[in-house]
Amino acid sequence: MIFFDRVSKIYPDDSVALDNVTISIEPKEFVSIVGPSGAGKTTLLKLFLAEDKPTEGSILYDNVDIHSLDKKSINEFRRRVGMVFQDFRLLPDKTVYENIAFTMEASGRSDDEIEADVPYVLELVDLTAKIWNFPHELSGGEKQRVAIARALVNEPDVIIADEPTGNLDPMNTYDIVQILKKINDLGTTVILTTHNKGIIDSLRKRVIAMDKGRVVRDDRSGKYDA
Ligand code: ADP
Repeated sequence: MIFFDRVSKIYPDDSVALDNVTISIEPKEFVSIVGPSGAGKTTLLKLFLAEDKPTEGSILYDNVDIHSLDKKSINEFRRRVGMVFQDFRLLPDKTVYENIAFTMEASGRSDDEIEADVPYVLELVDLTAKIWNFPHELSGGEKQRVAIARALVNEPDVIIADEPTGNLDPMNTYDIVQILKKINDLGTTVILTTHNKGIIDSLRKRVIAMDKGRVVRDDRSGKYDA
């Protein structure tokens, strides 16, 4: 379980990025975080990944305060979280296979595991046919599917997809959202940030709306607007 307990973040220039935020997210939930630019979404994700510390309050993961962990434990914790970004962040000089294998190598996985698991995750995102292609040979939607496969391959508890469809057309956006739903149905917690009202309204999952560092709405009706 993820628990933000009365978290505030004030940057050194006195910008209030988060103002007394309390949120809990259960395992296997699918939560969308929405809000205008400057609402505090990025700060929320950064604090969750222990890339920065809160000014006030604490962030617990399975009842452990992640900001009290030592460096080694923080790295172990981060391996339980898969990240997907708007700009894909694939390695351009590596094939689809190598992009995913690289992440597994960095986590100390064996060659046998890599050979078995890379095709498995590519099948999950329906991209088996592109296994030997390079990123520049893929469409935006296909690149994002590789990025999702890479985020999944170490079997994280949580996937954070930060504006994953920001660079995609409506067809590809639809496909990516379906894949995120499928991953969630298979038991992974999904946290999605998006500006796309259509996605939120079609998902019908929990929506946390933020504005000026505060949670202004948290409901399960699945609507972008109240
Ligand atoms: P969002 O992701 O919703 O656009 P952010 O978390 O990036 O929102 O920003 C929230 C607020 O905090 C904004 O007012 C922004 O200017 C400010 N902010 C974000 N990062 C920094 C930083 N490193 N230093 C100072 N202010 C920051």
